[in-house]
Amino acid sequence: MIRRIDLRGRLAAGEVLDYRALVPRASVDVESALDAVRPICDDVRHRGLAALQELAARFDGVHLDDVRVPEVVIIEALDGLDAQVRVALEESIARARRVHADQRRTDATTTVVPGGTVTERWVPVERVGLYVPGGLAVYPSSVVMNVVPAQAAGVQSIAVASPPQKEFDGRPHPTILAACALLGITEVYASGGAQAVAMFAYGLRGESGEWTCAPVDLVTGPGNVYVAAAKRLLKGLIGIDAEAGPTEIAILADDSANPVHVAADLISQAEHDPLAASVLVTDSPSLADAVDAELKRQVAATKHVERVTAALSGEQSGVVLVDDLDQGLAVADAYAAEHLEIQTTDAAAVAARVRHAGAVFVGPWSPVSLGDYAAGSNHVLPTGGCARHSSGLSVQSFLRGIHVVEYDEAALRDVAAHVETLADAEDLPAHGAAVRARFAGRDARGERA
Ligand code: NAD
Repeated sequence: MIRRIDLRGRLAAGEVLDYRALVPRASVDVESALDAVRPICDDVRHRGLAALQELAARFDGVHLDDVRVPEVVIIEALDGLDAQVRVALEESIARARRVHADQRRTDATTTVVPGGTVTERWVPVERVGLYVPGGLAVYPSSVVMNVVPAQAAGVQSIAVASPPQKEFDGRPHPTILAACALLGITEVYASGGAQAVAMFAYGLRGESGEWTCAPVDLVTGPGNVYVAAAKRLLKGLIGIDAEAGPTEIAILADDSANPVHVAADLISQAEHDPLAASVLVTDSPSLADAVDAELKRQVAATKHVERVTAALSGEQSGVVLVDDLDQGLAVADAYAAEHLEIQTTDAAAVAARVRHAGAVFVGPWSPVSLGDYAAGSNHVLPTGGCARHSSGLSVQSFLRGIHVVEYDEAALRDVAAHVETLADAEDLPAHGAAVRARFAGRDARGERA
């Protein structure tokens, strides 16, 4: 069901291993989806609502009259929400708020020299579009994970988009609408995939030219490969968070891991998407065998058996056998998984050595499912190796740091010669002149000569 990549003994045999080339990866990647999403984004840009309606019919099988969900429908969804789901969502929101409240940076002023200061002022993005997936599964948890940090950052204008659902009159799933209501979000659009990202980026106008959806400054949120490709394509026109595409779990485990847990966790991420990746890295062949057997047993009993089987047997999934945990860590770092579980003896010490991962789940009682819903951490995390350079969604994703520079006359005079020297070295003499002009006709104390 899941392929094996055996790296044991290869280092000892003198091979130089390029782990980034050896770890399992999907060939259906964001780059290859760009060609599919480019015409979609252009169509939304030029034809607006008509394009969104056609794309909803093609990809979501629904007839859309309008994309904006009326507020009354959002409120009704909360009224109809199952009581237990409401309590669980409220707990998820409360925990996420606790963690994200601690992420808010405070402005910092540095006195560089007497009379010369630089302040870094953190200012929230003005308007954001938050994408909540809803193709193969429904993600009210992603409403929480997008909205909580945006609100904690102080974003004033928040819009949410999620795919229209055939069985709900072309509206997003009611649980998604209810989660929006719980968080006080009233601007919601029934639009999914690349077209939703394009609508946020270009905006959407009504018949008389007014904005139905005003363009946003930043789009965040997870989604399938088409959502990730649209974000990559439109980056620059809009800001984006890290690419959070088809989900990934890597588990670094030794002999002490419980194969029942390991198999369950591999399956839990595989059920997101046939393109989801589940990777086990272990120095224990007996654990690998036991996990294989467990996968067979548990997959047969799981609900989304086709999706899970496709994900586990895909080229993006695998069991990597390594010589020892040091090599295992090297492989895990090269993979830079969205989610990395450490199921080893002394898991905290091993986790402390991880360099690249979206989020790390330490020990037997911290499964990824906990982080997906209710750990308090954010589940919108970088995929496809982006964890090498990007972080998961956080309050910081919604803030910009503005440098505020304030020097007085004496402080500028003190450094003027250095500015002029560097300006000349770059052959930009007007830069030096701009400083000199301020002191023309003034003596060293600033008095007019
Ligand atoms: P989705 O909302 O991301 O995508 C559904 C939309 O995709 C549809 O509305 C349609 O417009 C578009 N689409 C479908 N087929 C298409 C095609 N052939 N060409 C162009 N567009 C097409 O929902 P999903 O498909 O269920 O995917 C959700 C994804 O989000 C999963 O891969 C899951 O792993 C991922 N996810 C990631 C994170 C993270 O943080 N990385 C978190 C949650 C979910």
